Amino acid sequence: MKDMIIVGAGTAGLSAAIYAQRAGLNALVLEGNTYGGQIVNTPDIENYPGIAHISGFDFATGLYQQALDLGAKVQYEKVLEVIDEGEIKVVKTAKNEYKTKALILATGLVRRHIGIKNEDKLTGKGISYCATCDGAFFRNKVVAVNGGGNVALEDAQYLADLCEKVYLIHRRNEFRAEQAEIKRIMEKKNVEFVYNSTVTKLNGEDYLQSIEVTDKEGHIRQLDVSALFIAIGQIPLNEVFKNVVDLDAAGYIQADEFGNTNHAGIFAAGDCRVKSLRQLTTAASDGANAATSAYHYLLSLK
Ligand code: NAP
Repeated sequence: MKDMIIVGAGTAGLSAAIYAQRAGLNALVLEGNTYGGQIVNTPDIENYPGIAHISGFDFATGLYQQALDLGAKVQYEKVLEVIDEGEIKVVKTAKNEYKTKALILATGLVRRHIGIKNEDKLTGKGISYCATCDGAFFRNKVVAVNGGGNVALEDAQYLADLCEKVYLIHRRNEFRAEQAEIKRIMEKKNVEFVYNSTVTKLNGEDYLQSIEVTDKEGHIRQLDVSALFIAIGQIPLNEVFKNVVDLDAAGYIQADEFGNTNHAGIFAAGDCRVKSLRQLTTAASDGANAATSAYHYLLSLK
């Protein structure tokens, strides 16, 4: 029996672990991938209060170490099933079966795919979802970024400093990203903006050779690029929890700002829950709130 189980070692999950440990609980964090979540892909964070600039990787590593130093345990096991037996929640992974009375779901989001032919086949061969991970392979080459949010614009800036040229392809003629990001990308001389267009074809057998984009009038243009970085948003992967929490139509966990779901003993934190602002600060805040709610819930059982 564990005091508290947290699913996900991103910013929300690790923040919850810090608050749980400081409340005298022993938190077990289960992570199916690597620690840090999405923020590890961000080259430079400049909107976390109190820290002017830090790389996503350094931020995540600091948070991870802080949780471990406080005594939290992190196990790299993907959660396959949760069974709500009332006061006891059973959490199953491929290797183990854990029991707890307080479960925090902090599973974050995964990158959305375009969903066109060759996308999976060429992933790692010119198709990438992480500019900071793969950008250096395309130094001095011509590349493209797809998307119009913060991630796409940050990726395009990062790549513009490495690559000969970057096409930034967006389905509308206005970016969703914050003004500061828009201003910076507009200053890059080697970025060509391809507005009102979507990526409709990926050409190449072993490696990506070129892409085709189609604009709103149906005109097709071929772009000869060595890589396409896809940054068209993120989606939740909460299917595995749908038996123990309520999901909205888009698959986000229905939970309030304190992390309470309408299932006693199960809490949600971070990007995986229904909310309007998905940022590093709100993920950290969610983790703190969910752990505190879980702590009070455990006290109420005594
Ligand atoms: P996002 O803000 O949801 O933007 C996704 C972009 O992709 C939008 O421009 C959208 O177009 C486009 N798009 C969506 N589906 C598409 C499709 N099927 N085909 C073509 N284009 C499509 O996602 P994000 O940039 O990944 O950012 C995710 C969240 O993380 C945001 O809330 C962002 O603010 C946050 N973030 C925070 C930080 C930080 O705290 N430091 C850093 C980076 C990101 P439309 O605009 O037309 O809808």
